[in-house]
Amino acid sequence: MKPQKPIYLDHNATTQIHPTALEAMMPFLKEEYGNSSSLHKKGSLAHSAVEKARDVIGNALGTEGVDVIFTSGGTESDNFAIKGTCFKNKNKGNHIVTSSIEHLAVLAPCRFLETQGFDVTYLPVDKYGMVNPFAVKEAINEGTILVSIMHANNEVGAIQPIQEIAGIIKEVNGNRAPKDKSRIYFHTDAVQTFGKIPVDVDELGVDLLSVSAHKLHGPKGIGALYIRKSTSIAPFMHGGHQERDLRAGTVNVAGAVGFAKAVAIAQSNLKDQERQKGLKDKLYHVLLQNIPDIILNSHPDKSLYNTLNLGFKDINATLLLASLDLKDIFVSAGSACIASSPEPSHVLKAMGVPKEYIKSCIRFSLGTDNTDKDIEYCAREITKVISRIRNAYQA
Ligand code: PLP
Repeated sequence: MKPQKPIYLDHNATTQIHPTALEAMMPFLKEEYGNSSSLHKKGSLAHSAVEKARDVIGNALGTEGVDVIFTSGGTESDNFAIKGTCFKNKNKGNHIVTSSIEHLAVLAPCRFLETQGFDVTYLPVDKYGMVNPFAVKEAINEGTILVSIMHANNEVGAIQPIQEIAGIIKEVNGNRAPKDKSRIYFHTDAVQTFGKIPVDVDELGVDLLSVSAHKLHGPKGIGALYIRKSTSIAPFMHGGHQERDLRAGTVNVAGAVGFAKAVAIAQSNLKDQERQKGLKDKLYHVLLQNIPDIILNSHPDKSLYNTLNLGFKDINATLLLASLDLKDIFVSAGSACIASSPEPSHVLKAMGVPKEYIKSCIRFSLGTDNTDKDIEYCAREITKVISRIRNAYQA
């Protein structure tokens, strides 16, 4: 029997807006529609709502609102951080270090910068998608101006050693000749961690950090970039004087308010991670017991507590996805942004997933709304579907 409501296990793709966040936004979509740059009462009300939201987000990141620039989402924040620092510092060097498992929002701007005379090193990862900090150290050269390594990977959940990498960068910066004022900036894409685990810019030791509202039960179309005060960065959008002249355009007031509300709720729900991890482990162990030829692509303990990526030998992931969809189970085969591509995921390729598994991998990403019953139903149905597909192809 189908569940009463569909089982959504695709929270790394996006999340449902929290009703309280939506409620907080409504006045700014209706009667309080002022432009936050206008000087009259409606404008100043919108302005103070945006500044309050900025402070909430800044404080949640362990800093002040003034270091937070609102953007349209994670993709813009990543583009801003990467292109903004590289264009601004191109007279000091042209080398970028990143990893081969970054989201396309990082990889695509890096590839673009290669067409503009920049040189990019794409670091390899191990079988769980982990970057080795020593590989970062080895890749850095005199011309390195930016290192961009994600906080946690969206497909397999690998949480990267950001603090260790920050320590290496600090040491290199300390040894650089002060006269040429060249330094390496460190950016991390924290789109998958903000709202799930504590994210503190000073503890991590980063100069730039990207976040997005819709991954943490906020609205779509708004995100933010944290920029440490000493960072030399070029504006991303040219136009009016909004966002400290760095990102022109009328501010998304309702979006900022909804984002901040969702952040506050997520902060108070961080304790749910134990429960979700329990559910994730249960799903994995039941599937492991019931189904032969499974591989685990997520690190057993250095992965996001909500993310499980499994490969089912010789099973076509698209077929599996469609069969589960008919059972009202919504999962994904990696990143939503490349779901329509026939190519295997660049993340799994970089991890060296064997060829009989690489097109058979499914990402389960849990959220606060998932229950024990959901997981039992999923485990049962996945077992049935896989055995049916395997029998059909072996017959
Ligand atoms: N970075 C990571 C790690 C992501 O998972 C995503 C979205 O899937 C993005 C960036 C892009 O964020 P947005 O959808 O807000 O543009």
